Amino acid sequence: MANVRPLEQTVEAIRAAALVFNKSLKIPARWRVAERISSSSRLMKINRAQHVLLLEDINEGRFKRKRGEFLCKARITNPSAHERLNVIDIDADKSKRVKVDCQKCLEIARKRWR
Ligand SMILES: [Zn+2]
Repeated sequence: MANVRPLEQTVEAIRAAALVFNKSLKIPARWRVAERISSSSRLMKINRAQHVLLLEDINEGRFKRKRGEFLCKARITNPSAHERLNVIDIDADKSKRVKVDCQKCLEIARKRWR
């Protein structure tokens, strides 16, 4: 009998699909997937959107984003925690194993960079 581990395989499949999905976003700067850091605890974990967080500036005329900003400009309420927890690119590749699901981020990315 083959030693199958369905759950692990599922997790791998989901990650692989997320990587492909995220790769389809043609964002012209280094970026990672990140959530907003809210001041109110981890209990809020459910329903948090996964955003595109820029690790480099984008400067395309009228369209500008700074390193450390979300593509959709979601508000950063806790700048120091955000800088410490989100704006590090050491695990940027790893972060992309989770799909971006912020509709605003996706809309901007798809409209702007086809
Ligand atoms: Zn977003």
